[in-house]
Amino acid sequence: MSDVNDQAPVSTAEQQHGGEVAPVNLLGLSPEAMREFCVSIGEKPFRAQQLLKWIHQRGIDDFSEMTDLSKALREKLARVACVQAPEIVSELHSEDGTSKWLVRVAGGSCIETVLIPDNGRRTLCISSQVGCALDCSFCATGKQGFQRDLTAAEIIGQVWLVSKALTASGELIKKAVSNVVMMGMGEPLLNFDNVLASVELMMNDYCYGISKRRVTVSTSGVVPGIDELSRRSDPSLALSLHAPTDELRNVLVPLNKKYPLKQVLAACQRYLDSLPDKKRKITIEYTLIKGVNDSVEHAEQTAHLLKDLPCKINLIPFNPFSLVEYERPSNNGINRFRQVLLQAGYTVTVRTTRGDDIAAACGQLAGEVADRTRRSERYQQLAAARSAAEPQPINVRA
Ligand code: SAH
Ligand code: SF4
Repeated sequence: MSDVNDQAPVSTAEQQHGGEVAPVNLLGLSPEAMREFCVSIGEKPFRAQQLLKWIHQRGIDDFSEMTDLSKALREKLARVACVQAPEIVSELHSEDGTSKWLVRVAGGSCIETVLIPDNGRRTLCISSQVGCALDCSFCATGKQGFQRDLTAAEIIGQVWLVSKALTASGELIKKAVSNVVMMGMGEPLLNFDNVLASVELMMNDYCYGISKRRVTVSTSGVVPGIDELSRRSDPSLALSLHAPTDELRNVLVPLNKKYPLKQVLAACQRYLDSLPDKKRKITIEYTLIKGVNDSVEHAEQTAHLLKDLPCKINLIPFNPFSLVEYERPSNNGINRFRQVLLQAGYTVTVRTTRGDDIAAACGQLAGEVADRTRRSERYQQLAAARSAAEPQPINVRA
């Protein structure tokens, strides 16, 4: 058969359903799924590369503009497929250069995506779920409750939308974003298949071509997800630790009751062991909360806990939001904690708060979640009861 699709055969699916099948959204198809799709409509698998390039390198969603495909194929694609991104509702720009997009996904809820420019890097922090079921005690997303997983098109759609927003028309969108961190709303490893497809698209050379070191999946410690990720792919892995003992971590990260520290750290070690490059490290995220997990003793325990795991530590001063009474430690407190870890030989960074004025900092992302768990309602009632009962303090400290 010729490579030129002049006769563009009609797909089995089209024949079966008389052309009435719902269009396939090509935006969220992994490279492998795109090849399968091409075969399913009677095309050669290599057409996938052309489609991936049009969609993810050039940001094109209209098949009629895909000029290296035959007219017949373009017409067929218009019948059986679409390229459908979620919709940008609003865009906010912080004084420090951080930008935040509110993105409406199917069903009406909104998620948030944040771009943090820094030293020539443009890091995009994307969401993986609408809300989050895990309810960490210090996280605004957790307090919103959980609605649903994002589809792969909605996850990679955040990269696609922002890349397009940053690129002049006619230019390649491919290099607009240099790093992606899955540290927005949701627990990525509880939406495994859609996150994996998106991560593959980010790292694929026919798509965004971002190096695996610059794509980071952040997890609160979903052990089976970490193991599955090590079998299927190799992005950077960040673990949200936040506490050096099970007793305290059970309070801050309730998932710890299911997967305690020892199991989580062993899974991180297995993840590193599965990578051919032995220089790679786990990023440990530690949100510092005043009077809760920020003492010298906590720092010493953390240094001891991590002594066998190749890692670097990122300290995140707690970002406040209504509904919880936690506080950010003073700069002295943060430095004291950092010094202990530095002296123990760790590489330690302190995440500067970015986008505070537009509520775009870590843990402040709340979007507009139609909460199925009704958790947000309960927390709001709790906060209202709390202020009504003033001055009695509520003990949220561990
Ligand atoms: N669910 C994943 C990824 C999203 S949360 C995870 O927990 O890793 C991304 C990071 O933001 C996590 O390290 C989380 O602990 C941190 N974070 C959440 N709420 C925060 C807050 N109020 N202040 C500072 N960091 C916060
Ligand atoms: Fe979910 Fe991560 Fe927030 Fe915990 S910190 S509630 S896992 S988004």
